[in-house]
Amino acid sequence: MKKALALILALAMVLALAACGGGTTQPAAPETPAAPATPAAPATPATPAAPATPAAPAAEAKTFKVGVAIYQFDDNFMTLYRNELLSYFESLNSDTVKYDVTIVDGKNDMAEQNNQIDNFITQGMDAIILNLVQTSSADAAIDKIVAAGIPLILINREPLGDNGDESYKGILDNATVCYVGADARQSGTYQGEIIRDLPNKGDVNGDGKVSYIMIEGDPENVDAQYRTQFSVKALTDAGITVECLDDQIGNWAQAKGQEICANDLAKYGDQVEVVFCNNDAMALGAATAITAAGRTVGENIYLVGVDALEECQQMVKDGTMTGTVLNDHIGQSHTAVDVTVKALNGEAIQNYYWVDYVKVTK
Ligand code: BGC
Repeated sequence: MKKALALILALAMVLALAACGGGTTQPAAPETPAAPATPAAPATPATPAAPATPAAPAAEAKTFKVGVAIYQFDDNFMTLYRNELLSYFESLNSDTVKYDVTIVDGKNDMAEQNNQIDNFITQGMDAIILNLVQTSSADAAIDKIVAAGIPLILINREPLGDNGDESYKGILDNATVCYVGADARQSGTYQGEIIRDLPNKGDVNGDGKVSYIMIEGDPENVDAQYRTQFSVKALTDAGITVECLDDQIGNWAQAKGQEICANDLAKYGDQVEVVFCNNDAMALGAATAITAAGRTVGENIYLVGVDALEECQQMVKDGTMTGTVLNDHIGQSHTAVDVTVKALNGEAIQNYYWVDYVKVTK
């Protein structure tokens, strides 16, 4: 009986073992949990830029203060001139040098301009560019500007020496004073030559003489004096007989030019063969009067000016003006600025700088 029991027990153990271990399908090994994604390596922080080496403090730009006094803003030619002067100064500004330009309008009033000069001196201008209202006040202006130790560049209105030549004592005696301009005799001569070179030499009615009217700028201005004198001289030098019907002052102004020309055409009619104007602004006025009087430039009357304003150059092309003379505002203003810069840099300057006129006939 005991043997049977032991056998049963042994059998039960075997079965129990079998139930525990073998025979049954092993449960699938639990999936190995995916390895947690390796967190992206934190972006290597950019190496902080080495602090910019502070640029060597930019050398402070040197600033020069320049005072420009114009006789009158309301002047066609001087408007072109001063605009070019300003833009040329501006083009010279750089990281190392600046031109601080103050420009004032003398309103054709010498007392006003004297105040402006005094202000420039008080303001400590490093250089002064001066377009005098009256050249007879040149000495007074030169004296105080030189006494203040400021270089002076005179432009456009040339003070003349007592003996009538271009050398002016106040300029010759001072190494820091100069004049930049054009020789007005040349412009007058060119005007006369334009008439001289016409097929009929300006003698429209063939009576053997050229009858003209002269419309002058400000008579104190040497440009007006020389243009008046040398235009006629070019004709007489060529052996041409001339007759002056009228010579009036138009003060460089268009309205005045028109008025004078209209009056003369009404008074002298067909006798007027040539209209000489000391500048183009007055010639523009004269052209209006000529048309209004029923006259035709190039056919029965001739008209010449000076400056070569853009509208006048066009009129010369169209034939409504016989000719003009280029008063080179670009050359003159650039020369004035270049000379100023020289003086500001302590370089020696000449007493006179001349810019040529150019004849314009087409
Ligand atoms: C010009 C004129 C201008 C005058 C001012 C002359 O050179 O021809 O048009 O009115 O300068 O001073």
